[in-house]
Amino acid sequence: MTRPLLTDTALGVLQRLNPLIKALLAAYNQHRFDANEEALLEIHNVLEVTRTTAAIEEDDFLTDLYVLDRYADLLETYGVLWNQILNQQFSASWSTLQGALNLLRLIKRFSGLDVRFFEDQLLELEQAYPYNIFLSIGATVEVFECSICGQDMTSPECPHICGDLYKGVMARRIVRNISELDHVSFVTHPEDKRCVVIYEDTAEQFKIIRYIAELINTRGLRVLDFDRIRFTKRNIPNPEYVQLGRNDLCYCGSGNKFKKCCMPKENVESNRADIVFGTTSIEDIVAV
Ligand SMILES: [Zn+2]
Ligand SMILES: [Zn+2]
Repeated sequence: MTRPLLTDTALGVLQRLNPLIKALLAAYNQHRFDANEEALLEIHNVLEVTRTTAAIEEDDFLTDLYVLDRYADLLETYGVLWNQILNQQFSASWSTLQGALNLLRLIKRFSGLDVRFFEDQLLELEQAYPYNIFLSIGATVEVFECSICGQDMTSPECPHICGDLYKGVMARRIVRNISELDHVSFVTHPEDKRCVVIYEDTAEQFKIIRYIAELINTRGLRVLDFDRIRFTKRNIPNPEYVQLGRNDLCYCGSGNKFKKCCMPKENVESNRADIVFGTTSIEDIVAV
């Protein structure tokens, strides 16, 4: 088993955070998503105090602090996400969901924290959205500036690698001098899934996520208990079907005989999405 965090000091901090995390998740289950929720403020506070009082320059500890900050961000983003969903802000909730998934990737990259609950649930939730096609913006970029040293990241002068941590700070690529926006294309595997075709919150395309919101709102279900979406196909009676004699002209207006045309279409295939709720114990969610 991999260590959840690199240093014992940071593990101690996480253990102190655990009761607060449980309290926060319990608040979410009661549909309390206030950004000023006491447990959330206290989590940020503990991390802030740790950062200012520890005065440790050790690289591993700073990496752990970076991870704990992202974990706190994840918990906060998770609340924002469900709040938006339950308030029918589906379009905005998609960006929030992608933000949460990015946080999960960072946490998994720099630690062994157990975040499977969030990963499983959010990936399942992602399937409730209508976005199979994304907008991808193509641009001609002249300089990638390093966020740590300010030099061109592709030049030998910059020793930093994009996405790595240096004393707990991530090196990022800052795009400068976009000389031309050369194309906008539709792709299925974009770099940034937040770049999507925009639908109104009331659009038909949001019917699955809207249904999930309605279920939770009207039946008082707990957000942590959302488990998965089961997609199935089934045959339903074709509403347009007209029973005719085999040699009659078909009802569809094709000019062909019924037996050569729509006779087999008595049933049509329909897609069905079942929303599955389970029982999730908060004790099983916390990372250590
Ligand atoms: Zn650099
Ligand atoms: Zn026909």
